[in-house]
Amino acid sequence: MRDQGKSEEEVMEGLQRMREKDLSYHRIFSSMCTPPHPIALLAHERFQETNLGDPGLFPGSAELEAEAVRMMAELLGYPDACGYLSTGGTESNIQAIRAARNAHSFRDGNIVVPKSAHFSFDKIGDLLSIEIRKADLDDDLKADLASVESLIDDKTVSLVGIAGTTEFGQVDPIGEMGEIALDSGIHLHVDAAFGGFVLPFLEGEWRWDFTVEAVTSITIDPHKMGMATIPGGGLLFRRPEDLERLAAYAPYLTVARPKALTGTRSGAAAAAIWAVMNHLGREGFKKVIDRCMDLSRRMVAGAREIGVEPAIEPVMNVVTLRMDDPEGVRADLLERRWRVSTTRCPKALRLILMPHSTAESVDLFLEDLRDVLKR
Ligand code: PLP
Repeated sequence: MRDQGKSEEEVMEGLQRMREKDLSYHRIFSSMCTPPHPIALLAHERFQETNLGDPGLFPGSAELEAEAVRMMAELLGYPDACGYLSTGGTESNIQAIRAARNAHSFRDGNIVVPKSAHFSFDKIGDLLSIEIRKADLDDDLKADLASVESLIDDKTVSLVGIAGTTEFGQVDPIGEMGEIALDSGIHLHVDAAFGGFVLPFLEGEWRWDFTVEAVTSITIDPHKMGMATIPGGGLLFRRPEDLERLAAYAPYLTVARPKALTGTRSGAAAAAIWAVMNHLGREGFKKVIDRCMDLSRRMVAGAREIGVEPAIEPVMNVVTLRMDDPEGVRADLLERRWRVSTTRCPKALRLILMPHSTAESVDLFLEDLRDVLKR
């Protein structure tokens, strides 16, 4: 740290130089984040000094959190669900599994997740010292139910289903997993970090939310498709006693038994989530999701025209394209300033059509993809 401070102007110039090194979202197809909605930015700025870790000092912010939780609970089919706003999908998954583990007297348990689960579950194994058992996927890249069943034993504390897998955007058979969880007397946690703000707005019967009786908890991330600011995560429980299993005694705060993993928590993120949800409403969100799905279909149709097939028909706004050398193609596209990612199994090019994507960016991208594949 320097001895003498710089002027505000110099500091701002330094920040600007660094900001210019960051990429702008318009050529990014690899991210599950997107620029926040303008109203989220306004809300965030207004509440940036508030701390939900000490809610007695910020009762207005705490009310925003409670209302945001209630709105997400309604969206997920059970308005009475309880929970809190986390820093994102990783924290929500950690806490859901911690609650499941704390429901048992033993500590050396295991959980069963599909092989498609986000890598946050590997961290959970390490942090909570529980075994993470990975079930095979079926041909559609959904959790294979026979494999799931074969991995459950009397030390299993939770089954995990994914509603919108990170790599392929696939949805596990949550209804059937719920029956397995009920038969085994264990929790069923649904990781809808990405799908939580997509699937409720799609046509069709998506039986993956709290309307499935066995679902005990759901991860949903407003800082992804919810267009709120980072760090804006959500964790919901069907039963208050499961939330209570996360409580710790805090002697010096204005809340005696906080449930969140982090101590100091951003009230700004809560304000941003509340603002976007109230501003867009279901109608506004549906428009955003419809647009992302239209762009996903445009991407798939354009890819087919140049002879490239999707790994699966997109369920959500995640498009995966089969090709011989996706890593090489990714590197060539990088030279053309496109950011895309790849999947592991099956190997494919992975593209996420987010609110910042446009028909123009899709068409330009497809032109470059065609050139790169010709090489
Ligand atoms: N779960 C799923 C399904 C995800 O796709 C992600 C991130 O992409 C996460 C959890 C982790 O979320 P975060 O990066 O906000 O911790």
